[in-house]
Amino acid sequence: MAHPHLWYPFTQAKLAPDPLKVKSAQGVWLELENGQRLLDCISSWWVNIHGHAHPKIAEAIYQQAKQLEQVIFAGFTHDPAEQIATKLIEKLPPKSNRVFFSDNGSTAIEVALKMAYQYWANQQQKRSTFIAFEGAYHGDTFGAMAVGARSIFTQPFDDLLFQVEFVDYPETYWEDDRIEEKEDKILFAIQQKLQQPERYAGILIEPLVQGAGGMRMCRSIFLQKLARLAKDAGTLLIFDEIMTGFGRTGEWFSCVKAGVEPDILCLSKGITGGFLPLSVTISSEEIYQGFYSDDLTKTFFHGHSYTANPLGCAAALASLELMQENEPKFRGMDALHRQFLEPLKTLPNVEKLRVTGTIAAFDVITDQPGYLNQMASKIRTQAIDRGMVLRPLGNVVYLMPPYCITEGELEWVYQNLAAILSDL
Ligand SMILES: *Cc1c(COP(=O)(O)O)cnc(C)c1O
Repeated sequence: MAHPHLWYPFTQAKLAPDPLKVKSAQGVWLELENGQRLLDCISSWWVNIHGHAHPKIAEAIYQQAKQLEQVIFAGFTHDPAEQIATKLIEKLPPKSNRVFFSDNGSTAIEVALKMAYQYWANQQQKRSTFIAFEGAYHGDTFGAMAVGARSIFTQPFDDLLFQVEFVDYPETYWEDDRIEEKEDKILFAIQQKLQQPERYAGILIEPLVQGAGGMRMCRSIFLQKLARLAKDAGTLLIFDEIMTGFGRTGEWFSCVKAGVEPDILCLSKGITGGFLPLSVTISSEEIYQGFYSDDLTKTFFHGHSYTANPLGCAAALASLELMQENEPKFRGMDALHRQFLEPLKTLPNVEKLRVTGTIAAFDVITDQPGYLNQMASKIRTQAIDRGMVLRPLGNVVYLMPPYCITEGELEWVYQNLAAILSDL
């Protein structure tokens, strides 16, 4: 039952089915109040990379809570924040060098946009335009909405959003023989814009996979060419790795997988393994130096009450250790997805199959595509009946399970999926 005093996210309460009450969760399984068990195929909105209730992360939080649960992070510092910064920098390309904390993905994006904009302003340059991609989703705060694609999510606020220049996202899928043509067209459009480099504060992209926009996947080569354009024009390249970070693409980070060094990088979602809200915006040393000054007005005046919360940092450290231990799992899931997805090719209502690392997706053919079509809720309901959690994005069905899912469990998920698709 929906609670009389709660307002649920992304939910039209009048039309939505009652929310299911979850009593506990362990590994890939959620256990409902009525005793039903559901396999969490979407890692609870993409955050629980190690599954639920991992005892190592729980223990790390408990130990940290007894020692230092929270402290103001201006004028003070602490070990968990310093350790996580060191560990992240070790795993990232050399250019990524300064870690700025906030609490969620949207604020990590706000920080990135403000950093980029002020970086230029501190050099007496007014560069007020960002280039972003059609279909992008960067969060629900105003700045994050502005750089995201306009949609029914942003529609009530469109008047209030600053102007951004959008280009197409070079989405690709199996047996796509037009991808180079698509990429070239988009790169050309960006190059045209960058003829006037002094207008652009930066280019913002979800590298390798656009998440909420429909699990649309692009190629590393595109990101490499994009980085070259940004560099030649002297504008900033900003990677939103909020979803794709921490092993999701089969590599520690998608910038590593793509072989690209962004100027600014945003991470959140998987960072604490789904235990606590935390995010980071990581900049190059060059950007940091653009603020480092005797002049107080060049300060980056931004911060949150819970900036670098020690419990979140302790959870993040434990989660990184688990990633190290389970590296073969997230590196190996790409091959498993491909193996199990292949047979779905033969279904008449399935197209655009695609896999990047731990993420697999396809489109269901329908005469009413888009986020509001009824198919998503139908698939969701049938999945629940079969004991699994799916949450299609419109007509896009995707799997993004925790790394601890077994091969047998994954196979079972695909069998259920095939059955659901066959009698849609
Ligand atoms: C989820 C997401 C965000 C927003 O993060 P929140 O923590 O939900 O605010 C931004 N960008 C991408 C790519 C995301 O997947």
